[in-house]
Amino acid sequence: MSEIRFTIDGRPCVARAGQTIVEAAKANGVWIPVLCHYEGLKPVGSCRICTVRVAGRYMAACTQPVTEGMAVENTAPDLEDMRKSLIEMLFVEGNHFCPSCEKSGNCELQALAYRYRMMVPRFPYLWPGRALDARAPRLMLERNRCIQCLRCVRGIRAKDGRKVFAAVERGPRVTIEIDQRLAAGLSDAEARRAMDICPVGAILRKETGFAVPIGKRKYDGAPIGSDVEKGAGR
Ligand code: SF4
Repeated sequence: MSEIRFTIDGRPCVARAGQTIVEAAKANGVWIPVLCHYEGLKPVGSCRICTVRVAGRYMAACTQPVTEGMAVENTAPDLEDMRKSLIEMLFVEGNHFCPSCEKSGNCELQALAYRYRMMVPRFPYLWPGRALDARAPRLMLERNRCIQCLRCVRGIRAKDGRKVFAAVERGPRVTIEIDQRLAAGLSDAEARRAMDICPVGAILRKETGFAVPIGKRKYDGAPIGSDVEKGAGR
């Protein structure tokens, strides 16, 4: 299969046909931040954290395939500031109290906030009042932390293929619901996968907490994206 040649911030890169900008960047040791994207799931380009610029046009790097000669801008100051503002919007749009969250240290949103040096969001907090759903035997859904990335909707299915999570309503009212009957049939491993697939602490596995102490978690040792930049991949 012939290679596609392109650049990211002027750095020569190669891609395989069909690779998206995010996938090809990772293969070349270049990190592009993502949140709604999850390896193995169909990308939807909804969170826009991965926005890059090509020939003056803004595009979601997780859905856009690489083409020959493409010159991708990834770390221009205005792009980085736009990403930081999106992270800030996600923080003010929900209720994220990191010190009391079981996902702290493993949370992608928190890790992005650290990497982008977010101090005080530039937007007013909305303090939504969202209901917590703890009815499923192995899972808890804490909607106050949900960033509506739909990774759970796309990635968690029952044994017969039916979706365990669903998004209802649209726009700012979008809410994640659990099919309680399907959720009741999830095994321990499937419940763990649901917790892992959620980038924040909105889906938590019941009955286990702080098994890995704060300070020894995924993003406690190194910033998010540093594994890609070292060429190790995620
Ligand atoms: S519950 Fe988690 S995985 Fe599902 S949409 Fe909300 S943030 Fe995304």
